[in-house]
Amino acid sequence: MLKEYTCIMCPNGCNIAVEIKNEKILSIEGAACKRGYEYVNQELTNPQRNISSSILLENGILPLVSVRLSKPIPKDKIFQVMEIIKKTRLKAPVFIGQIAIENVLGLGSDVIITKNVMSSSASDNI
Ligand code: SF4
Repeated sequence: MLKEYTCIMCPNGCNIAVEIKNEKILSIEGAACKRGYEYVNQELTNPQRNISSSILLENGILPLVSVRLSKPIPKDKIFQVMEIIKKTRLKAPVFIGQIAIENVLGLGSDVIITKNVMSSSASDNI
């Protein structure tokens, strides 16, 4: 079977053609470096993705704060993690780099805040 991938490990976005038989890679073409091979191998065995999303804020000058994962998680866990993110509420102020959810689902990845959002109540921001 011939499959095609676009490597997402760097901005080059190499198009990689892979010949697979019995879940083993027979040949690989188009990767400009070995990371392309590693990417395809991971896609075949345990695909991983990062998530960017938002969490609801209480008492913030904005209603939401943007978040991302500290490291990619298995693709088949994304829906469960998004459900946890959707149910989470934080209290402003919140700051870039702050952990919103530690070790989400026990996957070894934290949900991290990516924007500073102050409280609408000035005394909370001191
Ligand atoms: S194969 Fe290498 S050069 Fe090509 S996109 Fe992947 S990491 Fe970048």
